[in-house]
Amino acid sequence: MRVLVTGGAGYIGSVAVDSLLADGHEVAVFDNLYMGHKVAVNEQAAFVEGDLANKSEVDALMKEFRPDSIMHFAAYSLVGESVENPFKYLGDNVSNGLNLLQSAVEHGVERFILSSTANLFDDPETIPISESERLVPGSPYGESKYFIERILHWMHRTKGLRYAALRYFNAAGCSEVRGEDHDPETHLIPLILQVALGQREKIMMFGDDYDTPDGTCVRDYIHVEDLAQAHVLALNALTDHEVLHYNLGNGNGFSVKEVVETVREVTGHPVPAEVAPRREGDPGVLIADSTRIREELGWDPKYPDLKSIIESAWKWHSAHPHGYGDSAT
Ligand code: UDP
Repeated sequence: MRVLVTGGAGYIGSVAVDSLLADGHEVAVFDNLYMGHKVAVNEQAAFVEGDLANKSEVDALMKEFRPDSIMHFAAYSLVGESVENPFKYLGDNVSNGLNLLQSAVEHGVERFILSSTANLFDDPETIPISESERLVPGSPYGESKYFIERILHWMHRTKGLRYAALRYFNAAGCSEVRGEDHDPETHLIPLILQVALGQREKIMMFGDDYDTPDGTCVRDYIHVEDLAQAHVLALNALTDHEVLHYNLGNGNGFSVKEVVETVREVTGHPVPAEVAPRREGDPGVLIADSTRIREELGWDPKYPDLKSIIESAWKWHSAHPHGYGDSAT
């Protein structure tokens, strides 16, 4: 297929591009490089620097590349920031998604894969969280993804667009050649690895009074290559299915303290840690029930345990202590 990947220079998008190319698809990446890195884009993919806020730029790429499918990764994605600055999310994330979707239906795109989020499950009745759980966005970020899921619902009903909404739990780990490099970094695992690299004095653990065994937040960490594989499976499955919703995680929860401990084990560094106040918008426990995608599409994560995920991240971060600034890979 001919796949347009928005955000294909970013952490998850760049790995998805590699997986798409390995699966024999043609790929064009559209990215404003606000957070992405041009060197992270596979050389076999076409690259266009542009912004979803400018629909004419999107239209031009649609005319030139003529994609039949879109994977949409490009979005602001920080829960905490979205609480501080809600319009960046409720405004930009939604209007950029609308520009993309409108251009997609105008140019005959048939399939759409959305990066959605576990932040749709702020108050789950059942853990692990399956696709039948009620949707309660936990922050303006989660709400922005919910809006796009609803818009997709109507694009399917009114325009016949086939789509998959993939709700990631906590993306983590690195591939051999692609890593996690955000500026500023806010994610737990890369921040702890910065401590292990001597670039940061200590890690602050946000909240130790959650209703969890050790009081710190519990998350389901899923390897970025396993996420990428799920995208390729979902894209191909849209031949036989019109609408897919999947929760993507390993089904195991690890607390912030357990993540810190695992980094100590993997790196051999003592990693000083301190408790800090809760971060706004963070639910206590997020663990996925991914039975549906395993059964329906045969998704089979290759990194089922936290240690192997952190080992893959440590390998990349210790080889690239300053991220993509260090080398072309
Ligand atoms: N976290 C933390 N200290 C940090 C960054 C994150 O304690 O410096 C916690 C955060 O509160 C959450 C978990 O680690 O419970 C994962 O956060 P991250 O930002 O990596 O991913 P998110 O869950 O927001 O997608």
